[in-house]
Amino acid sequence: MQWTDVLATRNSRMKASEIRELLKLLDQPDIISFAGGIPDPALFPTAAFSKAFETAMTPEHAASALQYSVSEGYKPLREWIAGEMGKIGVPCDADNIFITSGSQQALDYLGKLLISPGDTALVTAPTYLGALGAFNAYEPRYARLDAFSNETPEAAQAEAAEASDGKGRVKFAYLSADFANPTGETLSLEGRKALLARADAMNIAVIEDAAYQSLRFDGEAIPPLQALDIEAKGGIENSRVIYCGSFSKTLAPGLRVGWVCAAKDVIGRLVLMKQAADLHSPTLSQMATNFVAREIFDEHVAKIRAIYSSRRDAMLAALAREMPEGVTFTRPEGGMFVWVTIDPKLDAAEVLARAVADYRIAFVPGGAFYADGSRRNDMRLSYSCATNEQIDEGITRLGRLLRSF
Ligand code: PMP
Repeated sequence: MQWTDVLATRNSRMKASEIRELLKLLDQPDIISFAGGIPDPALFPTAAFSKAFETAMTPEHAASALQYSVSEGYKPLREWIAGEMGKIGVPCDADNIFITSGSQQALDYLGKLLISPGDTALVTAPTYLGALGAFNAYEPRYARLDAFSNETPEAAQAEAAEASDGKGRVKFAYLSADFANPTGETLSLEGRKALLARADAMNIAVIEDAAYQSLRFDGEAIPPLQALDIEAKGGIENSRVIYCGSFSKTLAPGLRVGWVCAAKDVIGRLVLMKQAADLHSPTLSQMATNFVAREIFDEHVAKIRAIYSSRRDAMLAALAREMPEGVTFTRPEGGMFVWVTIDPKLDAAEVLARAVADYRIAFVPGGAFYADGSRRNDMRLSYSCATNEQIDEGITRLGRLLRSF
């Protein structure tokens, strides 16, 4: 069978992720890898989950833990999340929360909800590769979101009108305002307000990907875009921001629990989508997450923040010491990533080949994070899974490698 004869057109946009392919090659023990962007498994709250799963299997909970459940998600967990959202300036109730199988599923559903083929999604350059992967299936066009731009709302409006050409219109801006993947950068308060003003002028939705938001190491927390928009509009039901949260970076990604916080109109539509797709996220995962979150969330997150922060410090100190002239790098206030920009004549994918073969270090070449493939000379380094000693040694090797070019 020639499968290409029967495949839907969207398949042409769906490619294997460069990162996943790469991670397969990195199992060799002598490689110091800054490539993954995953939590350190040594930091998983294993004992708390063990107890939570045991509780879920007691007669009081087992019948519901193992039964079909509602598509919105497990109510006690939605209530806890609504309380947490309130603490970061997003007053809402459990009906504004929709549980997904990781925030990755939220991105897929939001693509399905908002994109008709030919519509435009505004994404930062670079942006989270997994968001492009999720949106691609719905056949959008991409335009560059310069979150730091000084463009006036009027100019944004004119630009949006120009992009609406009969084949589609601009539908949303997608970004991580805190410690973005891949750059580690954070959008300032002024930047957030300006972005919301442009979104108002363009009459588009804003998807706020908050996967790393709880992992702030230093500096002042800045209110989420959704909080600012709610303040301006008088309530979540009037807000154009759709917030995507996740327990993956704080508790554990294997549970696959994330959430969307948004106006009830949006939540209701996502619930219909989930009914059609997988009925609901696993009840057992949601229940265990609820028990663990209520018991240890703040204390656990404080603990992992301290450890990741020390690794971030080790990486920045080593980069400052080892990088040759002309190499620049971001200084994240949280999250898991540093974004390193090397000589524009170099292709980071080719640098990686030599890094693995000759220097036994790995990172993710930056090209895949650009919707238009426009740059090749960046690399994403993650400090989340390396010890301070490995970071020191790995960055020393990276310096030697870059000087060899
Ligand atoms: N958004 C961003 C920015 C991410 O980095 C990730 C994980 N790499 C996700 C979303 C998806 O995470 P999850 O589905 O585990 O919540």
